[in-house]
Amino acid sequence: MSKVEWDIVVPVKQPADLKGVKPGKLPESLLRAVKGGKLHWLAAAAWEAMVEAAKADGVELKPVSAGDTYRSYESQLAVFKQRYTPNPNGNSTRTFEGKKWYKKDPKFASLAAPGTSQHNTGLAVDVHTAGEPKRLKWLIANVRKFGFSWEVVPEEPWHLRYTEGDNPPAAVAEYMAKNNIQKPAAGANTASVPAAPSAPSAPAAGKDDGGDLDPGDSGPRVTKLQEELAERGFYKGKFDGDFGPKTKAAVIAYKESKGYGSGGKAGKRVLDDLGIGL
Ligand SMILES: [Zn+2]
Repeated sequence: MSKVEWDIVVPVKQPADLKGVKPGKLPESLLRAVKGGKLHWLAAAAWEAMVEAAKADGVELKPVSAGDTYRSYESQLAVFKQRYTPNPNGNSTRTFEGKKWYKKDPKFASLAAPGTSQHNTGLAVDVHTAGEPKRLKWLIANVRKFGFSWEVVPEEPWHLRYTEGDNPPAAVAEYMAKNNIQKPAAGANTASVPAAPSAPSAPAAGKDDGGDLDPGDSGPRVTKLQEELAERGFYKGKFDGDFGPKTKAAVIAYKESKGYGSGGKAGKRVLDDLGIGL
């Protein structure tokens, strides 16, 4: 299997109603519930239109978790502090509140500083198992029709942002007209937005915690692990982001081939080999 190459990175135009709104502090009136999370209402309409079109083509699109749609400032801050420290350690850095913060462990997944992620504006959504070949191919062919684009390619195939601000593309405008989706009046819509648990995908039980990958973990890095092991001929299962028995067997076979010892854990050496973990 060869790696898919694509290059769709478009800058984000912000909807006018985000002007003066602090990232991560969106009023509920600007948010709309989507299946699996919530997004800025324009991004939500674009996302739903895209989900519907993908479904018609036999491709399921859903967020990795609720925390991978809109993220409040507090939830971004909580995870940021789990992964970054103000104490210098030579690892890669982020600037936050005018200070340099250092990744606690180089193999943790990177995270934007609180307030700087498009997840904090409700415009970004992380797509579950986006790297699965059929899904990725569909996304590459269709994201622009719905006003979405990637931010970091090809490393983050899951991270899509809605880029078209107040001028949704035709396919989205059509979906909005059909479903009577309009700019929410201030104070409206609050009741329809369920209180979504909003910690990003990393540290919940069973989810990828940004460190070693173990059987039972799930998330985008597990998908990447599956893809990399498949490319090397060790994995033949689905790219579903769930570290199940097939993934475990592939990790064991890979480690044996390298003389890394036994066990189904994908530790630092394996992750480094496979280019996972930045
Ligand atoms: Zn993301």
